Amino acid sequence: METISKKIAIWRGLRSRCPSCGQASLYRAYLKPVDECPSCGVTWSDVRADDGPAWATMLVVLHGLAPLFHLVAFGEHMSMWKGICLLSVIAVIMCLWLLPRMKGLFIAIIWSTGAPTS
Ligand SMILES: [Zn+2]
Repeated sequence: METISKKIAIWRGLRSRCPSCGQASLYRAYLKPVDECPSCGVTWSDVRADDGPAWATMLVVLHGLAPLFHLVAFGEHMSMWKGICLLSVIAVIMCLWLLPRMKGLFIAIIWSTGAPTS
């Protein structure tokens, strides 16, 4: 295995690319990693990120939306129900966009650090 820096592997993971080579997609479905990279042959089916990506996604999204929740709750720009509906849609979209990237990040960290995978 070619030695690459952790920063490069993490950047590739964040872009949903193979952390090893960066040439192929890390996923064959929305959140399903390929069993083996078609470009470099690294096996990804053994690397399990478990709940880490979901936790990190919620951490980022909810902290990012916290000021807007405050505006909806205490501001007078729109009614409460419109604000809650709008923020819910924004939160879902942000989560769906960020979750594969966070999973790629966790897979890249686990792989590049040689952490146990099972
Ligand atoms: Zn690869």
